Amino acid sequence: MEKNNRGDVSRRSFLRDGLFGGSLAGLGALGGLVFNKTKAANTVWQIDPYVCIACGNCATYCVLEESAVKCVHAFAMCGYCDLCSGFLEPEPRELDSGAENELCPAGAIQRRFVEDPYYEYTIDESLCNGCGKCVKGCNAFGNGSLFLQVRHDRCLNCNECSIAAACPSGAFKRVPADKPYILKEAKHE
Ligand code: SF4
Ligand code: SF4
Ligand code: SF4
Repeated sequence: MEKNNRGDVSRRSFLRDGLFGGSLAGLGALGGLVFNKTKAANTVWQIDPYVCIACGNCATYCVLEESAVKCVHAFAMCGYCDLCSGFLEPEPRELDSGAENELCPAGAIQRRFVEDPYYEYTIDESLCNGCGKCVKGCNAFGNGSLFLQVRHDRCLNCNECSIAAACPSGAFKRVPADKPYILKEAKHE
């Protein structure tokens, strides 16, 4: 499978700008909340998405029953692929949203037709468990636009984050509470 043609993506900036703007606005609003909640501590836990290897531990090591880690989508980097390696099982029987073809064990990724041959993928955070399977798939064959972040509307900001202790790649770090997210961004040539 070949990586997506970034030229195709940049020509579709009308899509990119609108969708990515919405995504950032959501995280920005949550950033305000976390600053109020944890300003005494001044720092919060976050995942460096360029270091994370999507090992699966984020889904199971959080002290919360439902992990505070969720998948985030950098729409500006996405190729809007029909054959999305973050959404589909390897060698799917059909390129559609049949449950047997989906990589996500929680059914948390929604696929929506935009126009031939483009599809948009959005994450339903209420279903996402932070397992990172989609992240691994997207990094392997796609543009790497899916990535994991600690969501600060959920995280307890534990002194010792149990996921950080179990993280095999050292991707967890403390970041300033007023800049609580480390977002992936498209490199514009
Ligand atoms: S594959 Fe895992 S990380 Fe990705 S959306 Fe589904 S539950 Fe979330
Ligand atoms: S700091 Fe605590 S609540 Fe937040 S992600 Fe780590 S273990 Fe989960
Ligand atoms: S434990 Fe570390 S490497 Fe594994 S998915 Fe979480 S941040 Fe990524």
